[in-house]
Amino acid sequence: MTSPQHHDHEACVASALAAAERICTLKKARLTPNRRRVLELIWGSHDVVGAYDLLAALQKEDPAAKPPTVYRALEFLLDLGLIHRIESANGFTRCEAPEGAHVCQFLICDECGLVEELHSSKLASALEAQAEDAGFEPTFQTVEVRGRCRGCVSA
Ligand SMILES: [Zn+2]
Ligand SMILES: [Zn+2]
Ligand SMILES: [Zn+2]
Repeated sequence: MTSPQHHDHEACVASALAAAERICTLKKARLTPNRRRVLELIWGSHDVVGAYDLLAALQKEDPAAKPPTVYRALEFLLDLGLIHRIESANGFTRCEAPEGAHVCQFLICDECGLVEELHSSKLASALEAQAEDAGFEPTFQTVEVRGRCRGCVSA
């Protein structure tokens, strides 16, 4: 997995936006300039971005931008699987693999903020089985692991 310091981030954002266009065409959804801009802002880093930071960034470009502008765009992007919600940081991050449904666990670096995805269906079904053993009917799971990323560990 690439660390943000050591890759061509511009190319990374460009390919993410191209993927978003493909997905929207496929799902007959409209990637309006505003939705596209919010996605681009979230892709501005490989970290978690809060809704208020997004609003502040949008307002720099358009002082008329209001919270619903951001929330509606976020909802759209979440629905299409282009971004993920990070509960423990109360924010959002880009999806690294939006072109395919996937279960997702997150590794979140407390030092540099990097968020990486794991796609372990084994882990997801083990968790589901445990919940069911406890007589619980799981509908959704969030797994967020905090710590230090590879880049920070080796620095
Ligand atoms: Zn990047
Ligand atoms: Zn993802
Ligand atoms: Zn880190």
